[in-house]
Amino acid sequence: MTDFDFDLFVIGAGSGGVRAARIAAGYGAKVAVAEEYRVGGTCVIRGCVPKKLLVYASRFADDFADARGFGWSVSGESFDWTSLVAAKNKEISRLEAAYRATLEKYKVEVFRERATLVSPNQVQLANSERKITAKTILVATGGRPNVDPTLPGVENVITSNDVFDLKEFPRRIVIAGGGYIAVEFASIFKGLGADVTLIYRGDKFLRGFDEDLRDGLAAAMTARGIRIITGQKFTKIEKKASGLAGTISGGETLEADQIMFAIGRSPNTKNLGLDALGVHIDSEGAVVVDNASQSNLPSIYAVGDVTNRVNLTPVAIREGHAFADTLFGKKPWIVDYTTIPTAVFSTPEIGTVGFTEQEARAQYDDVHIYKGSFRPMKAILAGRNEKMLMKIIAEGASERVVGVHVLGPDAAEIVQMAAIAVRMRACKSDFDQTMALHPSAAEELVTLREKWLAPGEAAG
Ligand code: FAD
Ligand code: NDP
Repeated sequence: MTDFDFDLFVIGAGSGGVRAARIAAGYGAKVAVAEEYRVGGTCVIRGCVPKKLLVYASRFADDFADARGFGWSVSGESFDWTSLVAAKNKEISRLEAAYRATLEKYKVEVFRERATLVSPNQVQLANSERKITAKTILVATGGRPNVDPTLPGVENVITSNDVFDLKEFPRRIVIAGGGYIAVEFASIFKGLGADVTLIYRGDKFLRGFDEDLRDGLAAAMTARGIRIITGQKFTKIEKKASGLAGTISGGETLEADQIMFAIGRSPNTKNLGLDALGVHIDSEGAVVVDNASQSNLPSIYAVGDVTNRVNLTPVAIREGHAFADTLFGKKPWIVDYTTIPTAVFSTPEIGTVGFTEQEARAQYDDVHIYKGSFRPMKAILAGRNEKMLMKIIAEGASERVVGVHVLGPDAAEIVQMAAIAVRMRACKSDFDQTMALHPSAAEELVTLREKWLAPGEAAG
């Protein structure tokens, strides 16, 4: 036993922190976790999980409409926000309890309060004012949603922290931002029946995604009745008797029941005591770590969103796992950040892995594009015109597949599987030789034959 109270003290019981604590404890380490809000963190409590539940809820609108094309008579359907929030809360509480039970099973001590660092080997608990020592401290405090603090009336806006528990369903909602959260919630509220406007400062949302997907999704969302305003920002937000009135840079006033900001997130490093200890923090507020998640102070490590590497749950989990295996299990490994699949749970959905066409062209001399767009089988009888898009990016004479991009139903499910092939460095010929599974939408990925030529590009 060491001279410390614990071998490992984890600050933050989210995706990364819980995984690190459980794995380290499994190796026999004496572990504690502090959590200031709810065990499970952003993903479980107010991120991926409740978001996906809302996505499911929102898509029933399409199911009801499409059912008619298949002979069903559907009438009297109505939606009740309060019931959805209650059902969602029940599931989130069940998951939180499961997380707590896991930590208990591994004999991880959980402090339900805020912790800050007071020395390289000591934390202070906020409520009990207890000071606790640990040989290693893991900062896994995640991130928080940004708002523009200089915006007049900013106190009237909500963020993803508030949206899951609104007392009343917002019949009119304006969402500011053009990233994952803005696009996902625009689709969610539209599906649930709200009047939705999305306002984005740039010319096309989802910067960094493949251009075909960005264009395809923007067109589909517009066709579904979401108003998309580009090149503008809010300049003022006022509370009126009828709701909120947001003035935007072009001068128009947008009236809404709620205005949601989804303009990115910042790492949770404020008032954590890191600066005073001399831990390197970058200009975005993230803890600077090496590929073993170690900060410049040897006893302090950080994983997950607080390091602002790739802010996704599976990445935080892997970073926490690698950290614990390496330090406590004598099984060193580092996280591989290449070919991370990701999805945007908009409707229609995006699934993507590897390079976009634009990135591939910047990276390689010889890039081959295969793409197809088609109406999925179900859409035909349903009378739905929305098209599905599939795109494969290959490079070099061997046509190694370096990117797969899908827009349409089940894109996330399809791309999770395609990611295995991309990671194994499969070539286009491997896709071609794989027997199609018929009838499916995913079979398009193994039957795309025609090379798509950019304007001016020679066939060859
Ligand atoms: P978190 O899960 O944020 O956990 C950090 C924990 O630390 C929190 O519980 C916090 O309360 C606690 N904490 C902070 N400071 C202290 C302190 N001083 N003392 C004690 N406790 C503290 N990712 C996906 O992969 N797929 C998705 O579909 C997806 N959807 C998302 C939807 C939304 C609306 C949001 C906001 C995020 C979504 N994400 C998604 C991102 C994902 O939630 C994060 O990448 C992931 O939760 C990061 O895990 P983490 O362990 O780094 O931090
Ligand atoms: P993102 O980083 O995805 O997008 C932020 C958006 O806000 C961008 O469109 C950005 O514009 C815009 N923006 C930034 N600053 C301002 C500003 N001052 N005024 C107006 N607009 C601004 O952030 P999100 O908040 O959507 O999500 C945070 C992260 O959470 C994601 O990046 C992702 O890692 C994770 N997440 C993952 C999900 C998933 O896996 N499905 C779902 C939800 C979240 P510009 O492009 O011009 O910079």
